[in-house]
Amino acid sequence: MNIAIIGSGLTGSLAAISLANAGCRVDLYERLSDDELINRDRTYAITHSSRKILEKIGIWKNFTSHLVPFQYLNIIDYELNKKFQFLVNDLNITDQKYSAVGWIAEHKNVMISILNFISDIENINKIPTSVIPNTNNYDLIVVADGSNSITKKKLKTPSFSFNYDQMCITAKVLLRGVKSNEAFEILNSEGPFAVLPLGKDLFQIICSQSIAKGNYNMSLSKSSFLDYLSTILPHGIEIDTILDKPNSFPISFVFNYLFFSGKYIYLGETAHKIHPVGGQGLNLCWRDVDSLTNIISLPLLRNNNYFVPLIYSISRFIDVLSISIFTDSLVRYSRSNFYIFSLPRSLVFFVLKRSAILRKFIINAMTNGF
Ligand SMILES: Cc1cc2nc3c(=O)[nH]c(=O)nc-3n(C[C@H](O)[C@H](O)[C@H](O)COP(=O)(O)OP(=O)(O)OC[C@H]3O[C@@H](n4cnc5c(N)ncnc54)[C@H](O)[C@@H]3O)c2cc1C
Repeated sequence: MNIAIIGSGLTGSLAAISLANAGCRVDLYERLSDDELINRDRTYAITHSSRKILEKIGIWKNFTSHLVPFQYLNIIDYELNKKFQFLVNDLNITDQKYSAVGWIAEHKNVMISILNFISDIENINKIPTSVIPNTNNYDLIVVADGSNSITKKKLKTPSFSFNYDQMCITAKVLLRGVKSNEAFEILNSEGPFAVLPLGKDLFQIICSQSIAKGNYNMSLSKSSFLDYLSTILPHGIEIDTILDKPNSFPISFVFNYLFFSGKYIYLGETAHKIHPVGGQGLNLCWRDVDSLTNIISLPLLRNNNYFVPLIYSISRFIDVLSISIFTDSLVRYSRSNFYIFSLPRSLVFFVLKRSAILRKFIINAMTNGF
């Protein structure tokens, strides 16, 4: 099968490797240079679903030296001052063998590993342009050109979307009072924020807050921003220093009603975009890649690509919808700090702290999808 992929971000690049492994000839179109693709300041939470996909593709061992595993995922309700933990034991038996609830990875390392892998594969042809000269040359066109996809706009594919009245601020910090193998998801009224381990006492902070407050915080000096962070970190965690200049980006929600248009198939953030809380975004994108590869590898569909887009779209619907709703609910929970919500919130924490079955269900859904 001849396939064109538009966009060589983490979704398009992994799709190129996975589809090439499945025997397709792939032309990978990207308008940016490799350096531009690599130099993005982002940090990802990698779940077991991604680990399985990377193992299947044969790239996992190239990753492991760049990943920071965590064994504890602490969920803290800042307003109620309550906490519970997801532990390795909450995962299913196969995942427990890896002794990690998940891993944290910096974009740069992930992108370099994937680009290096691509350069060794013969049936991937990298084309440094955004224009496909003749679409008739391809059986399928995989669209992975991101959340502002021009291709999707041109094809007028409808989607449900809205902007959160929030922005996300990220910074690398040195912390005291935290173990290097624990991650935090802190639900406070400003919006949820995550503390992710990057090795030793280095952590990535990803905090969401109102646009007005976020813009104000971005205008602060490093030392004033550090003072601000120390007020929102849970008791017992102290911030020593901020290592880089904080970055910010807007947060939006996108959900395509259909994940295809004709022979164009939407993968990754072209098809769906969710709030960064919960660290599900990239994992969801990579499950798209796995689904498409599985469908294309079916003997019945190998020489009959007509039904591939529709089957792919159906196969991804439940997982993407469930994770999108789950993530959005987490954001709304975090911000529901009115007095009347304190009882249901306390109840949620009470049940989750005591019910191993419920904890197992949630962590397994978050790590392996639906
Ligand atoms: C500013 C920002 C910060 C983020 N930070 C985090 C974070 O901290 N943690 C996290 O988990 N997630 C983060 N995300 C989300 C995460 O980056 C995505 O989930 C992930 O990158 C997968 O995206 P993708 O490959 O589908 O799209 P993208 O990464 O957007 O890749 C799309 C690619 O398509 C290329 N392209 C676009 N149009 C064309 C065209 N016409 N022709 C050819 N190529 C084209 C682009 O140059 C780009 O390389 C962030 C996203 C943004 C925008």
